[in-house]
Amino acid sequence: MSGQRLLVIEDESDIADVLRYNLGKEGFDVDVISRGDHALEAIRESPPDLLLLDLMLPGLDGLELMRILRRAPTTAALPVIMITARGEEIDRIVGLELGADDYISKPFSPREVVLRVKSLLRRLEPQAEAELLEAGRIRLDVTGHRLEVDGVEVSLTATEFRLLRELIVNAGRVQTRDRLLTEVWGYSDDVDSRTVDTHVRRLRKKLGPESTFIETVVGVGYRIRK
Ligand code: CA
Repeated sequence: MSGQRLLVIEDESDIADVLRYNLGKEGFDVDVISRGDHALEAIRESPPDLLLLDLMLPGLDGLELMRILRRAPTTAALPVIMITARGEEIDRIVGLELGADDYISKPFSPREVVLRVKSLLRRLEPQAEAELLEAGRIRLDVTGHRLEVDGVEVSLTATEFRLLRELIVNAGRVQTRDRLLTEVWGYSDDVDSRTVDTHVRRLRKKLGPESTFIETVVGVGYRIRK
């Protein structure tokens, strides 16, 4: 865990200081950049292991920054946790639609941030055993972190990848939103279950015609057809 590089993009220096201190204490290598446009340059030069991204930023706002990152192959899967303020619910939903892996709301407890960061990084850890899953035309190489749909490679974020794997492994069984939050995100407290819906929507879009595999079970959750 130690030595992993985190980039905090936050223009409020007191919040940036709290993040730098608490994450630094956990052994992370933390950089802080206060402008969105400068952050984009820095990420292109040397992508960090994870981004903590404020939304309201000078230079380039957080949502626009994420849109640019998700479009570029080298940063399409870069782990991103949004930092959102009260009153930014709409932005939070847009951010998740754009492919943010997770979000934390201000005011936050430093302990919560550390948990979220560790949980997201854990999702990226390589598996010890080779695992290749197939469902219809979907081929998920878990070890190599690759998805092919009908022979064409599709880029997924770490969270989308975990979510799809969880659904395929449990094919035929309904997965509740709470269970998915626990299995994929690592917790279910304080997280809006709509986070799951947003990620499933993105996943479906990426799967194209194969997305009919993921069934919505109204009022309960999701299931992959066997
Ligand atoms: Ca801000």
